[in-house]
Amino acid sequence: MRTGKKILVSGVKPTGRPHIGNYFGAMKQMVDMQDEYDCSIFIADLHALTSVASGNLANSSGDDSALNVATNLAQNTLDLAIDYLAIGLDPKKVTLYKQSDTPQVAELAWIFNCITTMPYLSRAHAFKDAQAKEKETTVGVFDYPILMSADILLPGADIVPVGMDQKQHIEIARDTAEKFNRIFGETFAMPEPLITKDVAVVPGTDGQKMSKSYGNTIGLFASDEEILKAVMKIPTDSKGVDEPKNPDECKVFALHKLFADADLVDLKSRYEKGGIGYKESKEILARKISAFIAPLRAKREKIASDPEYVIDLLIAGGKKAQMKAEKKMEEVRKKVGLTFNQ
Ligand code: AMP
Repeated sequence: MRTGKKILVSGVKPTGRPHIGNYFGAMKQMVDMQDEYDCSIFIADLHALTSVASGNLANSSGDDSALNVATNLAQNTLDLAIDYLAIGLDPKKVTLYKQSDTPQVAELAWIFNCITTMPYLSRAHAFKDAQAKEKETTVGVFDYPILMSADILLPGADIVPVGMDQKQHIEIARDTAEKFNRIFGETFAMPEPLITKDVAVVPGTDGQKMSKSYGNTIGLFASDEEILKAVMKIPTDSKGVDEPKNPDECKVFALHKLFADADLVDLKSRYEKGGIGYKESKEILARKISAFIAPLRAKREKIASDPEYVIDLLIAGGKKAQMKAEKKMEEVRKKVGLTFNQ
C-alpha cells in the first residue's frame, strides 16, 4: 500500500563482511533517507547463492561443502541484519527483510526471463567479467540482473541507492519494466538509481574499486588494529616529506575524501605545497576511520548480543514484505494469464 511517500528499495549481498565502500556507496543513503521514503531494505541471500559455484561462501579454510555453505550463508545473513541495525536503520521506519522471504521475486524473475533475450543479458558487465574470470559461468550469474529487476520492480521502487557498479543493473530493471508494461499494460513504476557522486566508486587500499572479492577492503566494523594495518599497506610513490604531491593521484588522499571535514582543505594544501609525508597522511586517515567506526562497532556488539531479537525482526519484516509482494504478484499473474479471474 502506498503511504504517499516515494518508495526506496536497496539491498546488500550477505557474501562476507561489508566494507566502507558498501557503507558510503549505498548503506549510508538508506539510513539518511529512511524518514523521507517508504523503504524496503533487504539482505540479498538469493543473490548470494550465485557465489556458491565460485566458492565465495566457503569458510576461511576453503571448505565449501554443502553444510558449510548453508551455515555460512545463514550466519552472514544474520550478521548483515545486525550491521544494518548498527548503522542506524530503524526497523520501525523501514521494512527490513531477507530476500528469500519474498519468494514472489523468484516467480516474477521467471516471468521476466520469458520476455528477455539472451543477447540482451549477455551484454551485462557482471556476466562478461565472470566469463572472463571463470571457466564455467552459472545460469544464476547470467540471470542475476533479472532477479535484481524483480527485487526492484516488485515493491514499486521509485529510487534505488547504489554504487556505480550497479548502474547497469538499474538500467536493465528499467528496460524490463518498459518491456513488461508494453506487452501487458502499465504495471511497474520506472525506478531511478541514486548514485552519490563523490562516493560512486569508493577506492580500495590498492586504488581499484573497494570490493569483497579483491582483498582490498577496510571493514565497516574493523578493529583499530585492522584499520591501521589496511591503511599502512596503501601503496604510494617515493616522494619525500617536503616534496609537493598531487592529492588527486594519491590513493591515501582518495580515502581522506570520504571524510570531507574541515581538515581536508588544510591537508590538500599541505600535499600541494609539500610538508606532509605519506606516513603522516596514513596515520591521520587511520585515526579518522577509527573515530568513525568506533561508535558503530560498539553499537553492533550490543545488538549482536541478542540474535533472537534480530531474527524476530527479520521474520516480521519478511511477513510485511511478502504481503506487499503478494498483492503486486496477484496483479501480475492476472495480466500474464496465470489466473482464471481476469
Ligand atoms: P554488494 O556487496 O555487491 O551487495 O554491494 C552492496 C552495495 O554497495 C551496492 O549498492 C554496491 O553498488 C555498493 N558498493 C559496493 N562496493 C562499492 C564501492 N567500492 N564504492 C561504492 N559503492 C560500492
